[in-house]
Amino acid sequence: MSQKFAGVKGMNDLLPPQIATWQRVEATARALFACYGYQEIRTPIVEDTALFVRSVGEVTDIVKKEMYTFDDKGGRSITLRPEGTAPAARAYIEHGIANTEPVSRWFYLGPMFRYERMKTGRYRQFYQLGAEAYGSGDASMDVEVIALAWEFFRRLGVPDVVLHLNSLGDGSARPAYVEALKAHFAPLTASMSEDAKQTFERNPMRLLDSKEEGLADPIAKAPAILDFLDEASRKHFEEVQRLLAKLSIPWTLDRRLVRGLDYYTRTTFEFIYQPKSGDSALSTAGTVCGGGRYDGLVHELGGPEKPAVGFAMGLDRLVMLLEAGNAAQVAGPTLFIGTFDGPLREDAVARVMRLRNAGYHVDFDPRGGKLKRQIERAAKVGARYFTTWGEKEVQAGKLEFKALALPDDHPQKTTTVELAGLEAWLALNAPPGKAS
Ligand code: AMP
Repeated sequence: MSQKFAGVKGMNDLLPPQIATWQRVEATARALFACYGYQEIRTPIVEDTALFVRSVGEVTDIVKKEMYTFDDKGGRSITLRPEGTAPAARAYIEHGIANTEPVSRWFYLGPMFRYERMKTGRYRQFYQLGAEAYGSGDASMDVEVIALAWEFFRRLGVPDVVLHLNSLGDGSARPAYVEALKAHFAPLTASMSEDAKQTFERNPMRLLDSKEEGLADPIAKAPAILDFLDEASRKHFEEVQRLLAKLSIPWTLDRRLVRGLDYYTRTTFEFIYQPKSGDSALSTAGTVCGGGRYDGLVHELGGPEKPAVGFAMGLDRLVMLLEAGNAAQVAGPTLFIGTFDGPLREDAVARVMRLRNAGYHVDFDPRGGKLKRQIERAAKVGARYFTTWGEKEVQAGKLEFKALALPDDHPQKTTTVELAGLEAWLALNAPPGKAS
């Protein structure tokens, strides 16, 4: 008896035609990141559990509740990576990269795993595209990664994304701020959940991230870390803002933005989807990118003192926004070749393959059959032109291209293309690499 299986809860299959949007996102990222000098790294899907406990932080939701952790057959505790910054820093340290170059710019793209409660845009396996710049504490690097994300959204045509910005200061701003937060929240501990109480005890800044209902108002009224910044961090933050203004990148100062991971220092930022229309169907997919500076992380993980800054972008959410905004056009083939059964069919199929190899998106119907059915198929997959590869056409050395999107009585409905000049015609009318 056969058994039916379903995918694991919270983990999605990505199938055509959705994958076309993913590929467009990835291709845009690769082209743009290369211009900014960011090179790709690929780290393993699993890491030593302690790496995440140490870097992400023991009292974060990720470490407390969301990690896929298990013992391997050798009894080592390993974890499916919940994020990419700690593995990147681990690799940066392990391979002694700091000894080989003063500044390193890396990016990564791949699946992350968190055992979260599912909502629109929140999954247990999701994809992140992340950038990491090591070696410089200069404000220009904070702005570089923000500008990189900003330009990426612009190129993709992501609608209504707003940059939220804050600074957490360096270590020296923290103690006074944490004291102020403790004083603010202390009278409320009696009515807090056990979870929130623990957070209050161990890292009160995390309370600003809490979604607990009774805490919404006190969080809104809590002191802001911006009022506690040390002189150097304040200057750094001003420079970040001046540079952003020079680049005409708009931002909103968000005094509560502390981010869910422990390792941030100074600049923190998020790009949040805030539709002008007020449409809230995608509100739980709101934050598409989060990042900031983590000057202590490399040292904390046993490496040299190397400042770092970066971001992670949620690609599932990005794709969702692109699809909702119809910004992503699924490009169909430029040309669909209709075939007849018989010896000519092999020539037609071989030509399809050769044109593909030359960089053109060309298709045919492997089922063959009636021409009418093949034209219907071509229209269904969004082909721009349909042509028939028949004896008459081949003998005359001329193909008749039908523009499928045009009405029958349109003057440009049909175009005659010389068989010998087929590729030259495609090069002029549908250059390789351009969507049809
Ligand atoms: P974080 O590593 O938590 O700062 O997340 C960075 C980005 O990854 C977020 O802004 C989201 O876009 C995305 N992300 C985080 N968690 C999830 C999830 N469970 N499902 C889908 N996307 C996520």
